[in-house]
Amino acid sequence: MRFLITAGPTREPIDPVRYLSNRSSGKMGYAIAEAALAANHEVVLVSGPVSLPAPEAARRIAVVTSDQMHDAVHQNLTGCDVIVMCAAVADYKPAKASPQKIKKGAAGLILELVPTRDILSSIGPDRSFLVVGFAAETNDLEENARKKLRDKNCDMVVGNDVSRSDSGMESDENEVTIFFRNGEIAKISRSSKKNIARELIKIIANTREKRLTKKT
Ligand code: C5P
Repeated sequence: MRFLITAGPTREPIDPVRYLSNRSSGKMGYAIAEAALAANHEVVLVSGPVSLPAPEAARRIAVVTSDQMHDAVHQNLTGCDVIVMCAAVADYKPAKASPQKIKKGAAGLILELVPTRDILSSIGPDRSFLVVGFAAETNDLEENARKKLRDKNCDMVVGNDVSRSDSGMESDENEVTIFFRNGEIAKISRSSKKNIARELIKIIANTREKRLTKKT
């Protein structure tokens, strides 16, 4: 199967030297890419700025902003069997990036932010590939993940609780719950992101196979 995986944060420029971003390390997305390659799948990895080595056998497309990530995803959808949107895309970006460094002043500074494009939602329901979204939540994980599954047209949503300091963002470990369209749930208990990724790839590949069998 061919996987398209997004990973890491995006950076939304404020001026030439400043940006808005988040704490995503890219570890989960890169572990998923490694696990997919180890299971003999092909991988296109659309990655925001991270300090991780690229998995050797993957085709990595390096991007910085949410707009670049959006374009890279859409340019590489053809021929994919599974899209895994693991990236922590910024939800807002400055309405206008200043072309010059903003000078410090005595008064406060108000930045106008506008929503970024939602890459996952932009894929649409009419497609032949499986779409896996992520939900990183600090509260009401199940409710929020199910809402994302519906609103963003996903086949599966992988939910993780990022309020804990020992799993989720930046950590080497994670614990996830997978929500399926038919209401089913699968849990992968606390483990290294590498193990979680291996289990996830098995579940994703099985789901994709089942769907293909159903259609024929
Ligand atoms: O709405 P929220 O950001 O919590 O949704 C998370 C899911 O949506 C992740 O799969 C993430 O990669 C994706 N997303 C996206 N484009 C955005 C924001 C989030 O594809 N602008």
